[in-house]
Amino acid sequence: MHLLRFLLLFPLLATLASGGEPKTAPSGAAAPSLVSLGLVDAHAHVFADSAQVFALLERLNMRFVNITVVDPYDKGYETVEPQQRAALAVARGAKGRASWVSTFDAAGWEQPGFARKVIAQLEASFRQGAVGVKIYKTIGMDLRAKDGRYVMPDDPAFSPILDAIAANGKTLYAHIAEPAGAWKAYDPSDPDSGYYRDNPLWWMYGKPGRPAKAAIIAARDRMIAQHPGLRIVGCHLGSNEEDVDEIAKRLDRFPNFAVDTAARATHLALQPREKVRAFMLKYQDRILYATDDGAQPGDDIGARVNYWQADIERHYKYFATGEPVEFMGRKVRGLELPETVVRKIFRGNVEKWVPGIVAH
Ligand SMILES: [Zn+2]
Repeated sequence: MHLLRFLLLFPLLATLASGGEPKTAPSGAAAPSLVSLGLVDAHAHVFADSAQVFALLERLNMRFVNITVVDPYDKGYETVEPQQRAALAVARGAKGRASWVSTFDAAGWEQPGFARKVIAQLEASFRQGAVGVKIYKTIGMDLRAKDGRYVMPDDPAFSPILDAIAANGKTLYAHIAEPAGAWKAYDPSDPDSGYYRDNPLWWMYGKPGRPAKAAIIAARDRMIAQHPGLRIVGCHLGSNEEDVDEIAKRLDRFPNFAVDTAARATHLALQPREKVRAFMLKYQDRILYATDDGAQPGDDIGARVNYWQADIERHYKYFATGEPVEFMGRKVRGLELPETVVRKIFRGNVEKWVPGIVAH
């Protein structure tokens, strides 16, 4: 431990001794404590109405945004209603520490009256407190038209729905496309390869006719451009997790676009530290801290809660301190972001980008 500390400090001391500015411009002050942040996990999935979950929220003095999502291949996520009921129950039990985001089943997108029905359903969810709407990677990767083509997020079928979300002042959470690993052969050094091996339905590699990632992202970008009045949170670093420069391009082009970090801290940590740190500083108003963790009925809730807490503690260490943090067996030095930036990423940004989240 002492040796590690010394090695970490040494480059900084050497720079200071030589009279130069330290390259990383550390904040100089101790990081704010995790509990003092009043952090908000902007993207989690909790459908277990459990005292253990509520105790975690109290223990870390945190809130979260509960994301419902229709995934026809994931047990418990196949339809809207049960998740919505569970999200409402969790919101009640969490006593001001859980907000929720509704969703719709995109499978009916070719049916007459689709947009009208979806809008009515979403507006009912807003009356029940939903602060936003999630759209999912089925659009672009899985759903096909009768003529065989894959439906893309900028399809006119979705446009009136997006307009209605904006008109209601709600936020769109867009999980469109996947990490590059989904389009590649299995590679144990890739942070996502294991997921695709275990979830081959989403493994695009070796499936001719599936849209390329670039084509889906391009359609997603057109969707953002077509709805400048809609606040959009790109889930999972907007699916440009491999390279912060690609995220930056979108943040530069689209003032209505922000990203969450759900399940993608590893992807940041694997990129060059100074590049990621500069990105975080430049876009400090557009990045929402999130985990993608949660607990479902039937899970070992204690284990899920411990996992969630460990994730948050590790990510806090990565963003807020200059200590070594382990990702995929590799130790990287934390970004040591200034306190003002840490507070925005862990709390302030989600309050701006997802207005209506419950105050605590
Ligand atoms: Zn998620």
